[in-house]
Amino acid sequence: MTAQIIDGKQIAKKKRGEIAAEVEELKSEGVTPGLAVVLVGSNQASKVYVGSKQKACSELGMHSELAEYPETLSEEELLEKIEQLNNDEAIHGILVQLPLPKHISEKRVIEAISPEKDVDGFHPVNVGRMMTGQDAFLPCTPFGIMVMLQETGIELAGKHAVVIGRSNIVGKPAGQLLLNENATVTYCHSKTKDLKKFTLDADIIVSAVGRNRMVTAEHVKKGAVVIDVGMNRDEAGKLCGDVAFDEVKEIAGYITPVPGGVGPMTITMLMFNTLKSARKQLEKLQHC
Ligand code: NDP
Repeated sequence: MTAQIIDGKQIAKKKRGEIAAEVEELKSEGVTPGLAVVLVGSNQASKVYVGSKQKACSELGMHSELAEYPETLSEEELLEKIEQLNNDEAIHGILVQLPLPKHISEKRVIEAISPEKDVDGFHPVNVGRMMTGQDAFLPCTPFGIMVMLQETGIELAGKHAVVIGRSNIVGKPAGQLLLNENATVTYCHSKTKDLKKFTLDADIIVSAVGRNRMVTAEHVKKGAVVIDVGMNRDEAGKLCGDVAFDEVKEIAGYITPVPGGVGPMTITMLMFNTLKSARKQLEKLQHC
């Protein structure tokens, strides 16, 4: 039997419907959720991502602002802009599109964003809150993965989850969120010896590497859940993930496609986080 496809597009659509309804509710109480996106330089991929985020805001009835700067912007000027957005009541979420030009420290920039507006979930305060199981803004891609698993009704407690990749934005938080749901988590990375030894024991595999055919049929246990975060190009230039989809789907129990899997969830969770921030601000005002 072939695997059940986890349809990220469909789940994202459902979540976006729920978010749009809640945005309307907040608006009727006088608060319009607002996202500020800061773009430095002219990286084409970044421009596309920023455009999609703004489009999502407008589709869901949210306010969005784009602050666009040339590559030559100084770190100080960027930090000043962030400070201004931290104090702007119309803005509930601040997102600085990465990567930044080399002369600007990503660490300093991320730490300058108020943790209460850090809708990307990259600020160390939110990372710490997530690790200790407190309420936090969760990083959007791992958060999207968790929502997909939950919406598909996949039980996580006691399962062995193997996360391939340990970046701060995907791999590490994905493992942490699975651990928070009582999975037993193994991290694999470029120094892991004998990847197969780990993946063949996995009930859940999350691959976040960025390499075509990182996970093939010989890595997967029968019935496993396979989540493909990778976004790569194959030899023909076609968009593909880390997982050899056609062969793995014959073995796995559940699988996410690329495109149409994790990708559509990421921006959806960014919208969710912005809404959550706006809701918190309203609650604060009501308690004053
Ligand atoms: P990074 O390049 O930051 O991290 C890649 C990770 O893969 C590293 O931890 C690296 O290990 C590990 N790795 C590299 N080679 C191997 C190997 N041979 N075996 C095991 N592990 C290996 O990437 P990101 O985490 O930012 O992104 C990963 C992928 O997900 C990319 O394709 C990216 O485009 C995609 N992505 C998709 C998103 C979506 O919305 N769908 C959002 C974000 C990312 P080490 O730490 O040892 O170097």
